[in-house]
Amino acid sequence: MSLVAVGTVAFDDIETPYGRAEKVVGGACTYISLAASYFVTPVHIVSVVGDDFPSDMLEYMKRRGVDLDGLQIRKGEKSFFWAGRYHSNFNSRDTLDTQLNVLATFDPVLPESYRHAEYLMLGNLTPRVQLRVLDQLAHRPKLVVLDTMNFWMDSALDDLLKVIARVDVLTINDEEARQLSGEHSLLKAARVIHEMGPKYLVIKKGEHGALLFHHGQMFYAPALPLAEVIDPTGAGDTFAGGFIGWIAKTNDTSFENMKRAVIYGSAMASFCVEQFSIERLKGLTPVMIEHRVMEFAELVKF
Ligand code: AMP
Repeated sequence: MSLVAVGTVAFDDIETPYGRAEKVVGGACTYISLAASYFVTPVHIVSVVGDDFPSDMLEYMKRRGVDLDGLQIRKGEKSFFWAGRYHSNFNSRDTLDTQLNVLATFDPVLPESYRHAEYLMLGNLTPRVQLRVLDQLAHRPKLVVLDTMNFWMDSALDDLLKVIARVDVLTINDEEARQLSGEHSLLKAARVIHEMGPKYLVIKKGEHGALLFHHGQMFYAPALPLAEVIDPTGAGDTFAGGFIGWIAKTNDTSFENMKRAVIYGSAMASFCVEQFSIERLKGLTPVMIEHRVMEFAELVKF
């Protein structure tokens, strides 16, 4: 089923208790599209980079079945840049720098072939851009999933609320759910967020797993305890890519199937954190993914 993914394609500087990585490939759309490509291809992306972005990475994405027709490459401009530092428990991080660069003036133009998307993943980037993408669709997709972060709640809340009102599923972390709803209890936060528009809410809790809410129904997926977490950057985006990838592959938007999607998203995220940048998302196989999903099943079966 056709899948369009929107979000940043970027450079990151990352500092974790295990070390540093400078100017490595990152960006929400990069993680989403690579994760989703293990479930459906092509993944049609909408994003923007400067001509500083490595062409071999773009070639790699193409080989994985990522359609770059909706990627603008701006001559003489710099790609989006983000720098972050993780605390020793890996569950929280500080953003040290966000340079919008090409993103500041990005106006997405959807190729004709994208306008009939059945599944839309609005990954993390300017809410105004997410709105522009929604406005260019020929019809409402079967499912629209939105992932965002506190940066946009702080800097573009009005636009963000307009996007939130138009999506089916919102995925955010626990702190962002509290910030958005003004409620500390995640149960109460879910009720407030349902009122804003999304029928489904996924609250990501890092190494404590993820919760799926749907008007009073709830599902909890643990995170897989891992011997070594090297870099959590992109785990949320990778989760989102696995989540929508599974739903698009199965073409089933029921709550029961969404539970499975949460597990597939969690399994993909568990790979992502095992190495810096997108390295661990390269070279996975369907068998490796299924094996990891079985580990999740074993973890909670009793
Ligand atoms: P995650 O760890 O899943 O929250 O995603 C981290 C990725 O998001 C990094 O690779 C960054 O390049 C990207 N990122 C960080 N801040 C933003 C932002 N404000 N808008 C869009 N993407 C961002």
